[in-house]
Amino acid sequence: MSSLDVICEKIHNGHGPRWERGGICVACVVEMMDRSDVSVVRKRAALVSVMRVDAVRELLYCEEERRVNFISSLLRTLFSAVDSSLLDQTIQVLLQVTLDIPNQAFLLFILDQIHSRWTDGQKVSLSSLTFLGKLLDAHPALSQTLTSSRLCVLECVCSALLVSDEEVKVSVCYVLFRIWSFSAAVQMLPDTLRQRMCVLLLHTLSNTHTTALTVNCLGVVKQMCQYSDVVCVLMNLNDGGENPLSYQPLPLILKKLLLSAQDSLQVVSVRCVCAVLIHAPLRFSSSFIQADLPGETLI
Ligand SMILES: [Zn+2]
Repeated sequence: MSSLDVICEKIHNGHGPRWERGGICVACVVEMMDRSDVSVVRKRAALVSVMRVDAVRELLYCEEERRVNFISSLLRTLFSAVDSSLLDQTIQVLLQVTLDIPNQAFLLFILDQIHSRWTDGQKVSLSSLTFLGKLLDAHPALSQTLTSSRLCVLECVCSALLVSDEEVKVSVCYVLFRIWSFSAAVQMLPDTLRQRMCVLLLHTLSNTHTTALTVNCLGVVKQMCQYSDVVCVLMNLNDGGENPLSYQPLPLILKKLLLSAQDSLQVVSVRCVCAVLIHAPLRFSSSFIQADLPGETLI
């Protein structure tokens, strides 16, 4: 067997040569992804071969049922694997499939499959969010699909800002950044979800102490500040009020970061302050001047 051969002797019997291309049995590849008795190393090697040999992917795509089976097995791996190298390779192959078959219905199928897993007791995992972020990089117009016909997916993404895992929240911010970087998508975003995103981001910023999450959150806030109506919402959210989520006002958050010891946080803070002030300098500068914790003087 050469290093490129992918034939799984446990399951290959009966597959026949019509499934083979360049030493790789497509039927074996699809079946081995779901088997717990096939090692992670072998599964990863099979996916590497799928990426290397175009003829294998063509054979995988040529019938709809086979294509759907393959994608479904990759998505199951995305949600069940724990090995990071297998997850990375699975994400690469999933992305390659969407580039090989640039078809809106196919992208919707993938979004729906992910959403059904998220709402079927499987958590909004880091790997699924990472994949969604990369999918938006590869297909920017998909942002508009999320804010129009697949709001349920976006709502699940936003809810993941309430989990405790900060790596997951960083990935959520990446997805939101892509959404807010695509103006056609922002136009379709309902006011209720805009408001919810504002509250969730302030809540996240008020409760994190990690630089990575703070920087990613502020990256989204800065993108949101391109829109004057959103700036008004962000600047008028005061202290949580009747909202069950606690948060600090944006001027106070930004002022604290400006006075932090870290250059990177000071820089993102200044950028956000400028992005706010450009809309109404007089009105919003007084909000920044007056922002103080009770009994605490910041400047
Ligand atoms: Zn086989």
